[in-house]
Amino acid sequence: MADPVRITFLGGLGEIGRNCAALEVAGRIMLLDCGLMFPDIEMPGIDLVLPDFTWLRENADRVEGCIVTHGHEDHAGGLAFLLRELSFPIYGSALTLGLARNRIEEAGVLGRTRLVPVRDGERRRIGPFDVEFIPVTHSVPHGFATAFHTPQGVILHSGDFKLDMTPVDGRLTDLARIGALATDPGIRLLLSDSTNAEEPGHTASERSVGEVLRDLFGEHDDKRIIVTCFASHIHRVQQIAEAALAHGRTIATLGRSMGKNVALAREMGLLRIPDAALVDIERIGDVDPARACVISTGSQGEPMSALALMAAGENKWLRVGDGDLVILSSHAIPGNEGAVSKVIDGLYRLGVEVVHSGLADVHVSGHAMQGELQTLLSVAHPRYFIPVHGEYRHLTHHARLAVRMGVAEERVLLAEDGDVVELTDDGIDFAGEVPAGYLYVDGIVGDVGHGVLRDRRVLSEEGVVVVVVTVDARSGEVLTGPEIITRGWVYAPEAEALLDEARQAVVASLEAAADVGATDFETLKRRVRTALGRFVNERTRRRPMIVPVVMEV
Ligand SMILES: [Zn+2]
Ligand SMILES: [Zn+2]
Repeated sequence: MADPVRITFLGGLGEIGRNCAALEVAGRIMLLDCGLMFPDIEMPGIDLVLPDFTWLRENADRVEGCIVTHGHEDHAGGLAFLLRELSFPIYGSALTLGLARNRIEEAGVLGRTRLVPVRDGERRRIGPFDVEFIPVTHSVPHGFATAFHTPQGVILHSGDFKLDMTPVDGRLTDLARIGALATDPGIRLLLSDSTNAEEPGHTASERSVGEVLRDLFGEHDDKRIIVTCFASHIHRVQQIAEAALAHGRTIATLGRSMGKNVALAREMGLLRIPDAALVDIERIGDVDPARACVISTGSQGEPMSALALMAAGENKWLRVGDGDLVILSSHAIPGNEGAVSKVIDGLYRLGVEVVHSGLADVHVSGHAMQGELQTLLSVAHPRYFIPVHGEYRHLTHHARLAVRMGVAEERVLLAEDGDVVELTDDGIDFAGEVPAGYLYVDGIVGDVGHGVLRDRRVLSEEGVVVVVVTVDARSGEVLTGPEIITRGWVYAPEAEALLDEARQAVVASLEAAADVGATDFETLKRRVRTALGRFVNERTRRRPMIVPVVMEV
C-alpha cells in the first residue's frame, strides 16, 4: 500500500478568482497558488476576497511552501495576507516572483518568506514533494503547469493555460513533456483550467492581436494613440510597443502598475523597447501627438484608474479629445461591463475615437477553449480528472468534455471549494471538507464578516432610521425625544407628518412597556425597534435598518 495523497481545494472551484489548493504528501502541505478575487456589486465597500485560511492556520507547522503557477493576482495576490500569519518559501518563475513581490513588500512581510526562482522544465525536490515545472502559454509570460511525482502517481495541474502555437516569445506549452509523462509513468490525475470550457474551438494566437494593432496604427496616422491592457500582459505590451515603433512613435506608460511592470520586464530582458523610444509621461506633451503612443492601465474601467480619469477629463497627465484614438485591448471581466461601458461613453463625449474588442480583434483570451482542453486531455490521457479554475457551470462543462474524451464518468470528480479529495491505491474519492467561505477584505485586514456585509446591503438599498429617546429608569416615562433621524428612508424635510406619526408609534410602544413594568434597557430597545420597524413597513413598504438609541436616566 502506497501512502495516500490528499488535495484540499481552498478556492477557485466555484468562482473565477482566489485560486488556492493544498497538496499533502507524507504529512506535509504544499500550497499551489494563493490568489485573491475582486468583489462583485453584491459586496459594497469590499476591496477584495481571499480564500478562507482557517485550515491553513490550524496546520501552519505542516506547510512546506507555496508554488505560484504564474503572476496573476488571482493566483498570487493572497500571499501578502497569508504571510502575516504563516511563514514559508515561495517557488515560481523569476517573472512570477517579480510580479508577486510588489504586494508582499508593500504589506511589509517580505522578511517572512524566501522567493525561490525555478526554471522551465526543472524538476525539484521540496521536502517530500517531487515536482516538475512545465512551461505553458498564457496571458502573462512564464507560467507553469506542475507535475507532482507522488507515491500515488503523477498529478498534473495545468495552471492557467492556452495552446498558443505562435507565442510572442516563442516559448510553447510543452505538450511533448506532458506526452512523455503520459507514456512513462502515466498521469494518474489531471487538474485542468476550466475558464473557457463553454467556448467551442480554439483561442487565437496572441500574435494575431499584433497584426490588428499594426493595422490600426497605420489607419490612424494623424492621431495620438492610447492603448490600455492588463499591466501584467507583457506580450501585449510588447506588441503595442512594436506597432508604435513601426510607425515611428515615442512611447510613454501611464498608471503605476504599468510603469512598474514595464520596468521589471525590461530589466529581465522579457520586454524589448529601446531607451530612445521611451519618454516619461510628464513629457508626453512635448511629443507631436501624431508621433506619440501611451500604454495605459484601466482596461477594466476601474474608477480611479488612468483610463477612467481620462474619460472624466481628470487625468493629471493626459487631456484627451478629438485628436485621440483609444484602443481597449481587453475584454471586460464579468461584472465590469457597466464600468467599461461608462468609460467608453465618457471618451466619446470628449470626441475621442474608441476601438474595443466588440469592434475589432484587439484582444484574445489567455485560457484554453474546448479544442485545446480536448488536446490536453488526449495528450495527458489521465486516469482521473478534476476540473479546476472556474464557476460551477465551467467545471460542469469541463467534466462533460472529459467524459466525452473517454475518461470514465466515475473517474471524473466535480469538486468544489472546501472539498478534500484523497488518492489511494484503490482510486480517488472525497475525504472530507474544510472551511472555505469568503474572507472579505476592506482596507488591509480580512475582518469583514457576513453580518457587516448584510448591514451594508440594507443601508445601500433601504437606508437607516435612528431613533433617540431618553426614559426614566424607574418609571419608564419618556423624558426627552423621541428624535428620529433618517438617511435613505424618506427625505426628512418633506416628510414631517410621517416622522410625527413615527414618533407617536415609538412613544406608544414605550408607554405600553411601562404599563407592564418592563423598564430594562434591552427590552425597551427591542420594543422600540419592533414598533418603529412595523410602522415604517406598514406606511412605506420599506425595510430600512432601524437603530434604537435608548438612554436611561
Ligand atoms: Zn487564473
Ligand atoms: Zn491567469
